[in-house]
Amino acid sequence: ATMREERIKKTKTVCTYCGVGCSYDVWTKDRKILKIEPLHGDANAISTCVKGKFGWDYVNHKDRLRKPLIREGSGFREAEWEEALTLVARRLGEIKKESGPDSIGVVVSSKTTNEDGYLMQKLARAVIGTNNVDNCSRYCQSPATAGLFRTVGYGGDSGSIEDIAQSKLVLIVGSNTAESHPVLATRVKRAHKLFGQRLIVADPREHEMATRADIHFRPKPGSDLVWLCAFSRYMFDHGYAKTDFIAQHVNYVEEYRKSLEPFTMEFAAKQCNVPIETLTAVAEEIAHAETMCVLWAMGITQHVMGSDSSTAISNLLLTTGNYMRPGCGAYPLRGHNNVQGASDMGAMPNNFPGYQPVTNDEVRSKFEKTWSVTLPAKVGLDNHQMVDGVYDGTLRAMYLAGEDMISADSNANHVAGAFEKLDFFVVQDIFFTETCRYADVVLPGAPALEKDGTFTSTERRIQRLYQALPELGDARADWKITQDIANRMGGNWNYTHPSEIMAEMASLTPLYAGASFERLENYNTLQWPVHPDGTDEPILYVNGFNFADKKARFFPLQFREPSDEPSVEFDLFLNNGRQLEHFHEGNMTHRVAGIHEETPERYVEVSEELAQERQIESGQWVRLTSRYGSLRIKVLVTARVVGKQVYLPLASEEGPVNVLTGSHTDSATDTPAYKETVVKMQVLPER
Ligand code: SF4
Repeated sequence: ATMREERIKKTKTVCTYCGVGCSYDVWTKDRKILKIEPLHGDANAISTCVKGKFGWDYVNHKDRLRKPLIREGSGFREAEWEEALTLVARRLGEIKKESGPDSIGVVVSSKTTNEDGYLMQKLARAVIGTNNVDNCSRYCQSPATAGLFRTVGYGGDSGSIEDIAQSKLVLIVGSNTAESHPVLATRVKRAHKLFGQRLIVADPREHEMATRADIHFRPKPGSDLVWLCAFSRYMFDHGYAKTDFIAQHVNYVEEYRKSLEPFTMEFAAKQCNVPIETLTAVAEEIAHAETMCVLWAMGITQHVMGSDSSTAISNLLLTTGNYMRPGCGAYPLRGHNNVQGASDMGAMPNNFPGYQPVTNDEVRSKFEKTWSVTLPAKVGLDNHQMVDGVYDGTLRAMYLAGEDMISADSNANHVAGAFEKLDFFVVQDIFFTETCRYADVVLPGAPALEKDGTFTSTERRIQRLYQALPELGDARADWKITQDIANRMGGNWNYTHPSEIMAEMASLTPLYAGASFERLENYNTLQWPVHPDGTDEPILYVNGFNFADKKARFFPLQFREPSDEPSVEFDLFLNNGRQLEHFHEGNMTHRVAGIHEETPERYVEVSEELAQERQIESGQWVRLTSRYGSLRIKVLVTARVVGKQVYLPLASEEGPVNVLTGSHTDSATDTPAYKETVVKMQVLPER
């Protein structure tokens, strides 16, 4: 809407900083962002956090990519779109011809829109002819999704943020919710303070929610599966398991009960290094809570047992009957704004949009008919396998959009080595990221404020964002770039607006069947599955679980030791995570002056015990070295961490934390075990 003073515009948008999905009006004058005004977002009502409120100036930063860049010698030169796109299409076409479509990999951003993501996977499958397509949920929440697919059938939060607020007991496991999902955390803080909600936090680090919790316990990193399974056994042993619910709604009960045999409370106490009294007190709270929501994030998923621990959470919710009702359920908290959407859109190597398997002939022929092509039936490479594929010579080219893989993926040196080997590498982003250094062509994409489209938030909520600003310089909305590449490679695409992309996607995807831009006008939202008549499901599984017989499935589990344990040489356990003010590696937030000044430096949190042992204070420079890399950093002595656990925030200016993390992954999903890294610390002479 144009206001009285002509150049002032008010546009509805959705925050791009986390999966909570806050929406608000952004007031702009020309390119200047005047203010953010939260009005009546379904996720946030009138709230935002510091990133959502102040984190927007990066869109006008001098570092924004304004023109395509083409590698020349050891540097880059600016180019016109025509030249850049022609080069991309020609090289991808040549490599496809020489080495086959599976020699090319595509990685989609979880920050771009659903429509951008849908077209990227369509480019991979229908134009290039490969299922080598993935998105960054591989780095975060794929294990959570896997755990939910195994047990309840949908890969999404089982209820809404409102259910979390209403719940009698909130259990937060491996999530620094106050800093990573601030507005959602506020709902919990309020319910806890004012309405008697019980709050239990399991985390090795004492973050803000832990300080507020009724009980905070610190399981040894990588041991969560043990106490979760022990709690399930405890429920059965003490007559707390909801046997009526289980008999009616859950399969594989006997197999599951048998699998729980090793998981006594004594075993859990020993393995997790938590007093048995504490574990018993928590189990008793869970047993007696009328409703429970479990919130979890990277502290659970980024382990070699990430999928299994996520499965253990869902098993425990089934054991205690905490599905199918308001105020209950499983809440893996999505990191990026569109982690949920990128996977929903089929930016994954095994699924078309809506988790329809590429290996299913019926599904494939549906897509073949609509897209008028023959599609590959073989499951493609995930982004971790793509890196390995470069090393073994099977993958020759990659096209990355909005993904700074060197900073985001584990073992940064290994990833950089792969990018050096690529025959052709296209990176599309809004800034010249670390990853861009390795590109042959860099394409300037557009941030959310410069495009129309939809995002799907952590509570499966599909929301529209509208274009508030024109594309900067020669930058273009990502879907336009993908369409231009497709058409130069023989596709015949004619989308004129993202609404047409959504219409096509919805027609092929039962999960989004009734979704349309019309139904999502302004502040209207829908939570998938969206049925053809436009009705949606704020709470999943009310009428049964998403399996043919409508029954959930207990999934038996075994415990395995973490991949990287402290040794004599590497004696410290390294943990890592977000800061409130920054977004991930800080590409965007470090370019917002006000935020940058607040927290400009990188530091490693060191416990008081360790500081005393090494005779160091805050401000001391140290060198951290893992089996994979090394970095120099300042110390911050704090009671937030204990013993030999040290903690690094993700955001940095000097290089990614991931030079330290290794290549071991969750066995079911290939998600890197970022949280299983051991390091040694050398105190440096300078201060
Ligand atoms: Fe944005 Fe998340 Fe903050 Fe909401 S809570 S304003 S979505 S960063």
